[in-house]
Amino acid sequence: MFKYGISGFESGHYMGESVYKPDNTFPQQIVERGGTTLLRCFQCGTCTGSCPSGRQTAFRIRKLIRWAQLGIADKVLASEDLWMCTTCYTCQERCPRGVEITDIVMTMRNLAVEAGYMQEAHVRIGGFLAKTGHLLPLKEPMMKARKSLGLDETPPTVLANKKNQELVLNIIKETGFTDLVKKGGK
Ligand code: SF4
Ligand code: SF4
Repeated sequence: MFKYGISGFESGHYMGESVYKPDNTFPQQIVERGGTTLLRCFQCGTCTGSCPSGRQTAFRIRKLIRWAQLGIADKVLASEDLWMCTTCYTCQERCPRGVEITDIVMTMRNLAVEAGYMQEAHVRIGGFLAKTGHLLPLKEPMMKARKSLGLDETPPTVLANKKNQELVLNIIKETGFTDLVKKGGK
């Protein structure tokens, strides 16, 4: 069977003070879930140089892509960097090799959540969604503020329509999202 790992790294590679044993199925998983351009990356750095998120944080998208190519799966999946991307697509538009970087980030996020690496904030917000069908909880001060502005206390979302709320909650449950949120992060 064709292996997507980078040749020469199958037996492990040096990371800091230890030899890391790569998971060569990891790049293959990304490719099979649509990230077929992952292996085109030749590490030019255009993505990192274009990334607005990287300007404000230590996030380096080029490094994440390299780790993915090398099968450094657990580091990618557990990495906070994976969630620093705002999905602005600037890098993807500029990549000279046509790597679908942003789409690959989202594929890796899906893999991370399936592996139980969900960020605390996402568990919290996902919990609201799974419980109410809406991302933001409706709180007393917000209801009062709406009323003082002459608006209905409840915004015209699924929160105000029980029938639609049930339908949305059903979709969320049937797609397995509720269970994922319950499983939460590691
Ligand atoms: S711009 Fe494209 S080829 Fe260059 S490092 Fe980023 S992903 Fe790789
Ligand atoms: S899509 Fe993500 S990684 Fe790419 S430039 Fe925007 S924030 Fe950076």
